[in-house]
Amino acid sequence: MALAERQVRRDRYFMSIARAVREAANCLGAQVGAVLVVDDHIVSTGYNGTPHGFTNCRDGGCVRCRDRALHAEGLATEMADPEHVPGRGLDRCICVHAEQNALLAAARFGVRVEGATLYSTLSPCFGCLKEAIQAGVRRIVFDEAYPVAPPGPIAEQYAQLAAHLCREDPAAFGALTP
Ligand SMILES: [Zn+2]
Ligand SMILES: [Zn+2]
Repeated sequence: MALAERQVRRDRYFMSIARAVREAANCLGAQVGAVLVVDDHIVSTGYNGTPHGFTNCRDGGCVRCRDRALHAEGLATEMADPEHVPGRGLDRCICVHAEQNALLAAARFGVRVEGATLYSTLSPCFGCLKEAIQAGVRRIVFDEAYPVAPPGPIAEQYAQLAAHLCREDPAAFGALTP
């Protein structure tokens, strides 16, 4: 079997596990699952939701997610902050993203992630992308692309981060081969 074909098969396998991990997500927003793989072994997993010990997002534990749900239902006047619309104010969300949770679980349990491939069911946000790179992740594969582009200057820096990953391997950042 050709190397590229083997990689595609491996990618599909690890993404299927990321999709299974996503089932545990507790967030009013997109449900996301992530898996960190080092040398073909899963070393950590994560899904999105509020931190341990806090009220779950679906039980109203996240102000931003609750606002976004109100906005979607046409109840904008009941929002705590009108800035809380899709793709905006991501940093104000108490929910920890799936990719962050995968990295943080590795930190918590002392697992090395240097050189890891990150599989996520959704393309990483600006924050998760920079954090993954800083943690030593070398390749990121995602299932679906996040539908809302980040605002102008951030979009530019997001592209720079993605290009940084791809400086040796052009396939180091991108969607799963269908
Ligand atoms: Zn949430
Ligand atoms: Zn994120």
